[in-house]
Amino acid sequence: MKKIIILGSTGSIGTQTIEVVKTHPDKFKVEMLTANSSADLLIEQAKAVNSKYVVIANKSYYEYVRAGLFGTGITVLSGSTAINDLVASIDADLVVTAMVGFAGLIPTLKAIESRKNIALANKETLVVAGDLVTEAARKHSVQIIPVDSEHSAIFQCLQGENPTSVEKIVLTASGGPFRNYSLEQLKHVTPENALKHPNWSMGAKITIDSATMMNKGLEVIEARWLFDLRPDQIDVVIHPQSIIHSLVQFSDGSIKAQMGLPDMRLPIQYAMAYPNRLPNTFERYKFDPIHSLTFEKPDTQKFPCLKIAYEALIKKGNHACIVNAANEIAVAAFLQKKIGFTQIPEIILQTVEKIAKIDHPTLQDYIETDVESRVVATSLIEKT
Ligand code: NAD
Ligand code: MG
Repeated sequence: MKKIIILGSTGSIGTQTIEVVKTHPDKFKVEMLTANSSADLLIEQAKAVNSKYVVIANKSYYEYVRAGLFGTGITVLSGSTAINDLVASIDADLVVTAMVGFAGLIPTLKAIESRKNIALANKETLVVAGDLVTEAARKHSVQIIPVDSEHSAIFQCLQGENPTSVEKIVLTASGGPFRNYSLEQLKHVTPENALKHPNWSMGAKITIDSATMMNKGLEVIEARWLFDLRPDQIDVVIHPQSIIHSLVQFSDGSIKAQMGLPDMRLPIQYAMAYPNRLPNTFERYKFDPIHSLTFEKPDTQKFPCLKIAYEALIKKGNHACIVNAANEIAVAAFLQKKIGFTQIPEIILQTVEKIAKIDHPTLQDYIETDVESRVVATSLIEKT
């Protein structure tokens, strides 16, 4: 029986994690659930899995959640400090980091410092401070098991292999809904168009990141830290069917791939059950009818975010932290129709130019870089 904490239980990854828990009640026991403001769903989940603790980050929902769970014996707290304190202090084997954005960094570090293994969905944590997070994991002998489907694929391909025999990895990308759009067409894309992903149903932020290809850029940085690779060992290939989830090429030229239908419950369950595999009834990929699996080169002219992320990785320091913060602000502004789709990379690049570079940032430096980048990106958006 694994005791688990789910950070961000009400989102796309969080709700699918709860599904896995409900399917295997003999394998997982939920100790703590957190959400930002989805109070009703949080109450319902806490009752369904009988979580010991529940934390709502947005304090204005505290009374509501407390009233909703009155008489259940479930302890209710609120605020991000409570999330950080509880993650560190309660007893658990695994923390599923399913919250979105920079907000995941501190609770993930708290989990690592208190020696809890991580099932990592929140890629922004590694993008912002991959050096500090992986160093903390080494120091405290904590395992970071990827939930992101591409990284889960690579992690699965690496089982039983010597990590030093990896020549390179290839991350697959669906290419998003605008793969075949012209630059001119991209200028007129609306949030409604962008929120319709062809293969995956996900939270709003990552869906926009997929449409700009920033998601793949963030995943390149995530892979660098998870698998300790150089930037030139990480390739991206467009694979519109999303059946091959990623590939590893070894020193003898052999390539291993992991395949399956695009269903996030699979990598979530794998990360939760690791090193075991659990049976399930998820739909299987069938070679009947026979489908074509196709591959294309990514177009960084049309989708500059991928290039921006590679550059941030090469430049190191607080570069990726700046890119991440500016991207979070630009994506939110696009969703609120304050800027156009093609302005997202422009805002990021302009923010990068304006923020002081730090070669060896501390945690405090990352926190300040994040705050400053958000202020700069917001003021750039106001001027557009
Ligand atoms: P989502 O927006 O659906 O859910 C986010 C969750 O985080 C919600 O429970 C929300 O209440 C909580 N949250 C948001 N802001 C918070 C804050 N400030 N403090 C505390 N909690 C907060 O997002 P998602 O699509 O589930 O994605 C979650 C993470 O997983 C992201 O980092 C994303 O990149 C990654 N990921 C998602 C998918 C997917 O299929 N959805 C796939 C791969 C990776
Ligand atoms: Mg992914």
